[in-house]
Amino acid sequence: MPRAFRKIAKPNRKGGAVPILSEKDVDKKLWFTLDDHDCAGEHYILGNPHTFPGRIMGWCTKKQKSFFFSLVEIGEMSEQTRYWIKGFLYGNEPDQPYNDEEGKLFSGEEYERWFEAVQLFHETGHWNDMEGRVCDTCGKDLLPSEMGVRCRDCAEGGA
Ligand SMILES: [Zn+2]
Ligand SMILES: [Zn+2]
Repeated sequence: MPRAFRKIAKPNRKGGAVPILSEKDVDKKLWFTLDDHDCAGEHYILGNPHTFPGRIMGWCTKKQKSFFFSLVEIGEMSEQTRYWIKGFLYGNEPDQPYNDEEGKLFSGEEYERWFEAVQLFHETGHWNDMEGRVCDTCGKDLLPSEMGVRCRDCAEGGA
């Protein structure tokens, strides 16, 4: 078995895999702090949790455990972290819309909406493509990369 596979996952009793990345996998240059988090100080990037596009696995030294986070939750970060995340988000961009007749779309309304969502994805690192998410205030469809319950226009207007 390739070493990299053995390192990140091993079978548990139910036959699934449990992530076993830990402090030993931390690269100290990949530090960041979290806004609105119960522990201050540096945290470190561990890898890809494979939950939602843009989600990152981090390590908390104080709590001695891993956790998941997104770009918008970061307060400060090293330059190395900034570029690690930038590359990670490009690799995590969800595919553009396609249909059976044309294959991948490169124009049209659906494509333009996807394109706008992907641009915002690079700011939020967040992607929720659950159907029917609409803005609480104006009722407009939310982009998958828009966070929370309000669209960007309504969120910027306060409240
Ligand atoms: Zn912490
Ligand atoms: Zn709105």
